[in-house]
Amino acid sequence: MGQMLVPNDGVRGIDVTTEKGTVKYDADKSGRITVDNPAHARSLKANGFTMAAGVSGFAAPGYPCEGCGFNSLFKVYKCWKCGTENDYRN
Ligand SMILES: [Zn+2]
Repeated sequence: MGQMLVPNDGVRGIDVTTEKGTVKYDADKSGRITVDNPAHARSLKANGFTMAAGVSGFAAPGYPCEGCGFNSLFKVYKCWKCGTENDYRN
């Protein structure tokens, strides 16, 4: 999956409740949380967390596709891999 950013500086982590119990995610010093479980990532997104851009090891900062994570240099593009319309102009 990748890294996600906390919604604001006051948030240092989050507990994700699953059918097996609660998983605790703590943010590091820069406010990033590493999430490998897509379901948990969705849960974090629902709580205001955002995907950290350019976390896939690419040297150039890019705009990862919201659908599949493909890293693009363009702010606005339709992903050729999964068809997701990405718009990072805001
Ligand atoms: Zn895609």
